[in-house]
Amino acid sequence: MIEISEQDRVFILTGAGISAESGLPTFRGAGGLWRSYRVEEVASPRAWQHDPRLVWEFYSMRRRVAAAAKPNPGHLALAQLERTLQERLFLCTQNVDSLHEQAGSRRLVHMHGELFKSRCDRCDRRPFYDAETYEPPADIPRCHCGGQIRPHICWFGEVPYHLDRIFEVLAQATLFIAVGTAGVVEPAASFVTHLSGRAPSYYVGPEEPANASAFTKCFLAKSGELLPALFHRL
Ligand SMILES: [Zn+2]
Repeated sequence: MIEISEQDRVFILTGAGISAESGLPTFRGAGGLWRSYRVEEVASPRAWQHDPRLVWEFYSMRRRVAAAAKPNPGHLALAQLERTLQERLFLCTQNVDSLHEQAGSRRLVHMHGELFKSRCDRCDRRPFYDAETYEPPADIPRCHCGGQIRPHICWFGEVPYHLDRIFEVLAQATLFIAVGTAGVVEPAASFVTHLSGRAPSYYVGPEEPANASAFTKCFLAKSGELLPALFHRL
């Protein structure tokens, strides 16, 4: 059990593992392939410059797959915890799907972007909701400024979003919980070290993460099986 007191401020980091339990494939990391392409070859600014249609084919496929997925008991448990703790809980997800929102989470940031949002690749127009698919022979949609509409996704080589807010909340956190994240992709893999020595940190997921030694304790189990019974309010 993880004990949460009235004073605790809880920072939760989620990764691909929690979405995988809802049937969404994890493309990042070793062995991630789409058709014959390594994911780095289609999820990068370079790919967008060379072949934006290929990039949109990939994200169109991902939108279709993600639209059919449903949140699992792990997502629901985190949404329930937010209802209890309210502003004392902050959820940072590396996932681009909307399963946390579907489960009812509201206080969250997507540090790697959102699959169901697009933005202009030229002007600073805000990212907007977009569930369309753009596949050949369809043209790439254009912004009124003339720029091309791209997925609102943090590609390889780009800087993750909301980092100022994330580090501000990390500095205040008294409890850190990582769920289903392999502990490899930076900067998220180092978040836990910001609390080392001053606050407990826990990992939940079926496999030991690469940064396991940084945690106070690792619970090696599926998040959908463990999270619903893990939290105990003092
Ligand atoms: Zn524009």
